[in-house]
Amino acid sequence: MIVVPIYDMIILPGVSFYFKKDVLQELNVTEASAGDELLFLIQREDKKQSELTVEDFYPIGVSGSVESIDGEGNVSVQTKSRVNITELEITEGKITAEAVNRADVEDLDAKEWQQRFEKMRTALLRFAQGFQWGVWARGYILHWKSISEIVSSLSAYLNLSSEEKYQILEADTSTERVEKMERAVYEFMEVAKVGEEAENAQQETHEKVYREDALKKQIDFLQRQLDELHPENVSDVRRFEQKIQESGMNETARKEAEKVLNRMKQEGKDSHEYGMLYDYLDFVTSLSWKKEEVEQVDLAEAEQILDKEHYGLKKVKERIIQQIAVMQLNCRQAGSILLFVGAPGTGKTSIGQSIAEALHRKYVRISLGGVRDEAEIRGHRRTYVGAMPGRIMEGMKRCGASNPVMVLDEVDKLSKDFSGDPASALLEVLDPEQNNNFTDHYLNVPYDLSDVLFVCTANSADTIPEPLLNRMEAIQFPGYTAVEKFQIARRHLLPKAMENMGIKAKNLKVTDEALQSVIHDYTMEAGVRGLKKQMDTLCRYAAVKLVKGEQKSITVNPKRLQDFLDEKPIRHEGILEEKQPGVVTGLAWTAAGGEILFIETMMTKGSGKVQITGQLGDVMKESVQIAVSLVKFMYPEAADKFRKNDLHIHVPAGAIPKDGPSAGITLTTALTSLITGKAVSPEYAMTGEVSLRGGIMPIGGLPEKLMAAQRAGISKVFIPEKNVDDLDDVAEEVKEKLEIIPVKRVTDVLKRLELR
Ligand code: ADP
Repeated sequence: MIVVPIYDMIILPGVSFYFKKDVLQELNVTEASAGDELLFLIQREDKKQSELTVEDFYPIGVSGSVESIDGEGNVSVQTKSRVNITELEITEGKITAEAVNRADVEDLDAKEWQQRFEKMRTALLRFAQGFQWGVWARGYILHWKSISEIVSSLSAYLNLSSEEKYQILEADTSTERVEKMERAVYEFMEVAKVGEEAENAQQETHEKVYREDALKKQIDFLQRQLDELHPENVSDVRRFEQKIQESGMNETARKEAEKVLNRMKQEGKDSHEYGMLYDYLDFVTSLSWKKEEVEQVDLAEAEQILDKEHYGLKKVKERIIQQIAVMQLNCRQAGSILLFVGAPGTGKTSIGQSIAEALHRKYVRISLGGVRDEAEIRGHRRTYVGAMPGRIMEGMKRCGASNPVMVLDEVDKLSKDFSGDPASALLEVLDPEQNNNFTDHYLNVPYDLSDVLFVCTANSADTIPEPLLNRMEAIQFPGYTAVEKFQIARRHLLPKAMENMGIKAKNLKVTDEALQSVIHDYTMEAGVRGLKKQMDTLCRYAAVKLVKGEQKSITVNPKRLQDFLDEKPIRHEGILEEKQPGVVTGLAWTAAGGEILFIETMMTKGSGKVQITGQLGDVMKESVQIAVSLVKFMYPEAADKFRKNDLHIHVPAGAIPKDGPSAGITLTTALTSLITGKAVSPEYAMTGEVSLRGGIMPIGGLPEKLMAAQRAGISKVFIPEKNVDDLDDVAEEVKEKLEIIPVKRVTDVLKRLELR
């Protein structure tokens, strides 16, 4: 008896089948001849014959015999019955076994067998018709004579595990066995059908896709030909398609843009959404999505460019050059955020433009004055009607580069209300940790702002929210002296105004005296904005004269200025003409620069009331109270005077609100002068906050104040000793003309003025 171990096949009794020669060889059955008895043993696992052990076999096998062997060595086998293996031995890979027949329980009669077989065969025939191989299979199917034969033949295709296959053999009753077999075969057909359907469906969709692609290409081709014929009519969709492709957008942005583009295609030109979709696509495709290379900048050239457009500003320029150098060393496009602080017209914005030029980068300016809605920074969501991008992204679109120099003008004028806090949104824009991923609500995809060099400007750093201020590095623009203004007008403002109006140098001459007079008598400012306007006015006036042909060449001297500028000279507060007890000159800082102011005091018969006029703010009113207490303390003998009189304090230019602590020393001196009856010389001016203990504390805006003092003709100025370091920022020509007296205590001032 030849033992044939098999795996993952269904061998059933009463079936005839072929073994090809090579399969037999694989099974190590090499010597078989017709009539040989066979015993099929069924393996539990797929193992090589040499590794098999007794445990690897199921207890039930099948007996059979070799029917015949054809010329090529293929063997025809007929199986007989199921057997119980009684003995099994494996020695050196050779298997010997004994078996006895296993009884079947025939609970189906022959007719039933036949009916079920025929039903299955018909189903198989119909099933086969659905396939190309159906014709070939038909003969095969008709050849089968029993369900067992069908199952054995389809064995490899059935969707059964090897254990399930064995279970068919194991079933003792005919009903059980036939049910298992039917389930296997019908299931096989269903699975095959579903697979086929899916494949067909897939093929259909493939065909559809191919067709669609082909059609699209054709449309594309036709459209392009149309576009060539009428370039003016190139459709929006096509234009945006191209722009999206060329823009170099990142994946997220491209997806969003394509989504909108698809909507645009579907909606068509007449839809009311079209405009909105158009605007969005126009916006995203106008932004620059390309990362720019860091360009090497020649520092000498950069210095030259800064000098070209701006006179003076030595410290500012130095700081800018340092910033450029650091950026070069770090190979970065952006560095610390600079905050230019100074009065209007001191060149804060325009030097931003020069920085851009020096770095060979685009320049964009955004005004933040009066912005109170967070959406102005961060944009509106597109669901809103009339939604717009925020100002930052709008600026990025305007300049069309990813690394511009962006000047954020008037950051001190941001305000806050119910519609959110624009300052905190701005913080996100400026924060190098976050701004590579800045998401404008309108754009709706992150945009990298980390290459933008931000420069902020403000008139005063006081109103900038602390967290914002901490991010920035403040640089003071102290305002220009008369001498600087003269140079600026001569070198820049006048030539520019003449050029703008087409006036040649030979046709208009402005004498130095005339220029100085414009500066002194027609402008009152720390910057040069008013001066620039006056230069323009001058040139306009000259232009009319030249065009009328009244004069070929015009010379402007101080005498003719009033005609040219059509304005009366401004009257500056000059020094007091006569000295008077109770009146003292102080120095004030205003947005337009520095000014001198007078503090006037007077006592009238009364009952100790204090009256204050001149629109003084709360802080200044407190300074008055401190001054009064201090004087009462220092001059106990004057207590009677305070009790029996009313005190009136006035600061002229009553229509202009004034506030700040820096008039403390002036108030105290004025009161002292009043009660001692000793006048203070008008050539003195002073500034400084006073403490109740009589100390003098530092103040802000020293350069502007000293400039104002010098302009007004003051010759001696008291300043808080703690402000001495600020003198570095004061122009030499101002310092030259003033005697600057640093003081620590109120008594130092009073002694010097011989009030004590
Ligand atoms: P700000 O931003 O400080 O208000 P701007 O930058 O707008 O001032 O300057 C106002 C005008 O004055 C500009 O035309 C500018 O060119 C000119 N300007 C300011 N400072 C200088 C300077 N130092 N040299 C030459 N022109 C100057």
